[in-house]
Amino acid sequence: MKPSEANPGLYLHIPFCSKICPYCDFAVLTGGPERRRRFTDHLVREISMWADERSTFQSIDTIYFGGGTPSALAQEDLTRILEAVQQNLSIRDDAWVFFEANPEDVTPESVRNWRDLGVCFLSLGIQSFDADALRFLGRRHTPEEARRSIEIARGAGFNTISIDLIYGLPDQPFEIWKRTLEQAVALQPDHLSCYQLTIHEGTPFGFRLERGKMSELPEDTQGELFLFTHSFLKDSGYPAYEVSNFARSPEHRSRHNQKYWHHVPYLGVGPSAHSFSGMRRWWNERTLKPYEARIGTGEKPIAGSEELTRSDLALETLMLGLRTVDGIDLISFRDSYGVDLLKRNEPLVERLVREGLLKVEGNVLVPTLAGLAVTDSLARVFELGER
Ligand code: SF4
Repeated sequence: MKPSEANPGLYLHIPFCSKICPYCDFAVLTGGPERRRRFTDHLVREISMWADERSTFQSIDTIYFGGGTPSALAQEDLTRILEAVQQNLSIRDDAWVFFEANPEDVTPESVRNWRDLGVCFLSLGIQSFDADALRFLGRRHTPEEARRSIEIARGAGFNTISIDLIYGLPDQPFEIWKRTLEQAVALQPDHLSCYQLTIHEGTPFGFRLERGKMSELPEDTQGELFLFTHSFLKDSGYPAYEVSNFARSPEHRSRHNQKYWHHVPYLGVGPSAHSFSGMRRWWNERTLKPYEARIGTGEKPIAGSEELTRSDLALETLMLGLRTVDGIDLISFRDSYGVDLLKRNEPLVERLVREGLLKVEGNVLVPTLAGLAVTDSLARVFELGER
C-alpha cells in the first residue's frame, strides 16, 4: 500500500476507564455517567469543528474508537458520536469501525449494540488468562470472564475479533506466558496484539520501580520472550505482520493501524489524540479540563503541532516500515525522498544482512525476526542524506 493510494483514517479517543491500571500511561480517567455525557457533548462539538478539513481527510475508510475504554460509553453516546462523524466528515460508505472493549463490558446485549453501530473489528483487552497476572496488572476481569467475552463476541458476527495480551511481567514464570498463549490460540481469535510490559515514569509501576519495589526484566530475557512469542504464534497459524501484531490471514490485519505504519494521514479527535496530514502533525490537549475548556470557547483543542521536513518523513517512514513484515519499498522510498537507501548505506546493509537482521527481497528491504526484535534501533543507523 503506497500512502498516496490509501484513504485516511479517523481515531476517536474515549478517555474513560472504570479503574486506572497501574502500568497505564495513556490519557485516561474515571468518571460517572454525567461526566461521560458531558465529554460526549464536547467530542461531538470537536468533530463538527473538523468539517472545515474535509478536503484534507477525504473518504476516510477506518473509524477507530480507542482509549481509555470505548466500551465504557453508553450506546446513545456512541451513536451520537458516530452521527456527528457521518454528518461532518467525509466517510466512505464501506468504512470499517474498530472498537476497543474490556471483557467485563461484553454481554450479549452490548455486542449486539456495537454490531448495530457497524463495528467490524472488536479488540478485547484480555491481557492474560492467568489470575495472578490479572491481579498484578490491576485488571478487573477474571480469566473466566476473559474467555466468556471471546465466546460471546464470536456469536455476534464481527469480521475480526482481536485480543490484547501483555507479557514480560517481572517474576512471571515462562510457563505461565506459554500457557496464556496456548489458551489464546485455543479460543481461535482472528487477530492478536502481544505487548511487552513497559514501565513508564509517573505511573504507579514507575514509582514502584524507582523505589526498588519492582524490577524490569533483563534485556536478554525480554528478547527470548519476544522470539518465543513470534515463533509460537507463527507455528499456531498467526504470523506477525508488525512487531506486536499477529493475524490469521491478511484480511484480518488491522486496516486502521496499518495506516500509522504506512504513513497514511489520519485525523485524531478527543483528548491527547494525534493527527497527521502528510506533512504536519498536531496533537490535542491531553487532559479533559483544558480539552473541554478550549472547545467551550469555540476553539479546536490543539495543544501543539510540528511541520515535518522531507528528512523527518524519510526517517519516520524507515522506522515505521521496519516495524512491519512489509518492510520498505526501495523504489517508492527513492521516489518520495530522493534517497537510494541501498546505495547510500551499502556496507551497513551488507553487515545487517550478514548479521541476520535484514533481508533484501527484490526491491524491498525487510526486517527478519531478529531485526524486528531490535527494530527501534535498526532504522537509526541508516544514513538518509540526499544524494
Ligand atoms: S483499561 Fe486500558 S486504557 Fe484503561 S487504564 Fe487500563 S490499560 Fe489504561
